[in-house]
Amino acid sequence: MNMNSESTFEAFGLNDALLKGVKEAGFLVPSPIQEQAIPFVMKGRDVIAQAQTGTGKTAAFGLAAMNSMSFSGDVELLVIIPTRELASQVSDEIYRLGRFAGVRTVAVYGGQSISRQVDLVQRGAQVVTATPGRLLDHLRSGRFKRFKPSIVVLDEADEMLDMGFIEDIEAIFQFLPKERQTLLFSATVPEAIRRLAKTILKDPVTIDVTPKGLATAPDVTHKYYVIEEREREEALVRLIDAESAQRAIIFCRTKRETDNLSTTLISRGYSAKALHGDMEQNQRNEVMDSFRQAKIELLVATDVAARGLDITDVTHVFNFHIPFDPESYVHRIGRTGRAGKSGIAITLVTPLEFKELNKIMEFSGAPIIYEEIPDIGQVKKQYHATIMEKLHREPINEDALDIFRRLSQDMDISQIAYKALSMLVEKQHVKGPNRIGLTSLDVERIMHKNRRQKSPKNTWLGRDKRRRS
Ligand code: ADP
Ligand code: MG
Repeated sequence: MNMNSESTFEAFGLNDALLKGVKEAGFLVPSPIQEQAIPFVMKGRDVIAQAQTGTGKTAAFGLAAMNSMSFSGDVELLVIIPTRELASQVSDEIYRLGRFAGVRTVAVYGGQSISRQVDLVQRGAQVVTATPGRLLDHLRSGRFKRFKPSIVVLDEADEMLDMGFIEDIEAIFQFLPKERQTLLFSATVPEAIRRLAKTILKDPVTIDVTPKGLATAPDVTHKYYVIEEREREEALVRLIDAESAQRAIIFCRTKRETDNLSTTLISRGYSAKALHGDMEQNQRNEVMDSFRQAKIELLVATDVAARGLDITDVTHVFNFHIPFDPESYVHRIGRTGRAGKSGIAITLVTPLEFKELNKIMEFSGAPIIYEEIPDIGQVKKQYHATIMEKLHREPINEDALDIFRRLSQDMDISQIAYKALSMLVEKQHVKGPNRIGLTSLDVERIMHKNRRQKSPKNTWLGRDKRRRS
């Protein structure tokens, strides 16, 4: 995560095929759990790793495990995981990262043909991700032949406890090789999991990267975009369009900025209002009410003004400027992804702000994912997909029928359709320059330059923490 330190995927000593998978997946830098866990897993140690959901645990064990594979034809990595969805998801993620290394994965869970699963596993998969019940069933029946996983992962261990799988898991381990590496990944490590760990792990290293500050909600996707200072407004507008943000809070650093930005947004056709600490109470209430009632889509706020406000259902939080301190980031993002809903947090940074972004990643423990700002063509494509989807679902209105009947007297049907579609497309005009912000190539170049120039003293986490391996 730390873009100014030596922390890169290359530095772990992963093989080139895996590095290619990492690159193709778009991972630029390791997340904190990856940074800390990968070296130990690669050394063959048993590990208990605690990190929140969405922090990249799959790649943490997946990459390290795949790097040591011998491709003997046996199953080499077993991931035990509580649900079918997770089994498929982890299988897909490991395949995505390992495909250039020739890694094959199979997800094994209940409700699927037994013989097909056995077949897939026997035909030379290196990785099996499995739910406990079905796995135990297979193991008891002795159906798996080349099944001697040298690395076994208990993923989402706390969930397995909650779902009552502990006994199954204990039973599963009776069938597994005694000579093995065992890894336990979990968002929390309750006492029962600790007890289980004692019986199945050997001299484990314990890693905990759960934030010591305030936690961010687990179902928020964090993204950042790298821009030049002068591109801020264009970038914001493009992202609002690309995300079809309908209920968003945009955070600024100063009240002046909230005023200016809301004015700009309104002049560009968005429904926006500013909220800052200097406003009269009744003025603030008014703004809040119209935001709550969805009369305005965009709330442009300062940190102070938004503190303690109970606004739910916000789809997006935009950091127009990166917050001054990591705690503010967590407070800001706390406005979205509430009550089981998913949310998106978007941060605009200039290369000069990488350091601040690093502090935030470290503090919040969430991987903030780099993305390029979509160009006009990409946004249009998204619009068109939305229009098509809407057309499929749109009920037919009486008045529309009437207009159609009258039009079809002197126009043919396709002409009517083309013109009606043109009216829809016309409304969704994407403005601004085609390309905004820095490309991934630019960003990589800057990161490399920083690495070379940096002296250990002035990296913000230049202590030994980062140089474990
Ligand atoms: P967890 O198991 O901790 O809940 P996942 O392994 O499912 O998290 O990862 C969450 C998401 O983050 C996935 O979409 C994954 O592809 C992505 N991701 C993981 N590591 C990185 C990284 N280093 N950089 C960018 N994205 C990452
Ligand atoms: Mg996971």
